[in-house]
Amino acid sequence: MNIILIAPPAAGKGTQAEFISKKYNLSCISTGSLLRETIANGDPFQIQKKMRDGNLISDDIIISLVREKLIDLNRFVLDGFPRNINQARLLDEIFKEVNKKIDFVIYLSLEKSLGEQRIIGRRSCPKCKKVYNIYVNELRPSNENTCDDCKESLIVREDDNKETFENRYKIYKEQTEPLIDYYRSKGVLFEIDASQDKFEIFREIEDLLGEV
Ligand code: AMP
Repeated sequence: MNIILIAPPAAGKGTQAEFISKKYNLSCISTGSLLRETIANGDPFQIQKKMRDGNLISDDIIISLVREKLIDLNRFVLDGFPRNINQARLLDEIFKEVNKKIDFVIYLSLEKSLGEQRIIGRRSCPKCKKVYNIYVNELRPSNENTCDDCKESLIVREDDNKETFENRYKIYKEQTEPLIDYYRSKGVLFEIDASQDKFEIFREIEDLLGEV
């Protein structure tokens, strides 16, 4: 079973990719994580600023990172790839060569305003790493600025700001959203409402993928 996840910013794509790979025993290929690793290893492609601003990294770099994995691995979930039509076509070419196919493209849909709240309201504890959201009832800390557990002052991540969100969203609309029709026309697209909590979203994904 090979799965692609497509989602606007803050829909919880990474979380669902992890849930899916654990339950269905699939390898998870996350281009965001692979890029963060290359930055940690000295940033040979000089992509740190581009990523921080929410811009896409060039298709050549992305393909060089995932090509071997796509060929070698069987049964995987792709988190963050493809991100535009050109990458989708390159993926089709690679799969044609090695006789593989995509079984499910899961589109996690979320309204822009909800995504914005999730990002801009996000706070985290620098000590225990617990994540809060000052705009979401179930995730709000008892006191707006302190961790309920360790009483540390909560912090805002550098890239959790309105400007970066707007840029990420714009790029999603222009470059990634066209993938929805691309895969719909191939008959493999399934939409799931990502405004629900992460466990409900996963329950719907389980209904779609079936029991193992
Ligand atoms: P993600 O963790 O999927 O949200 O990705 C974080 C960032 O990594 C994105 O905002 C892009 O800058 C970059 N990125 C991840 N995947 C891709 C991709 N397939 N193509 C281009 N850039 C990507």
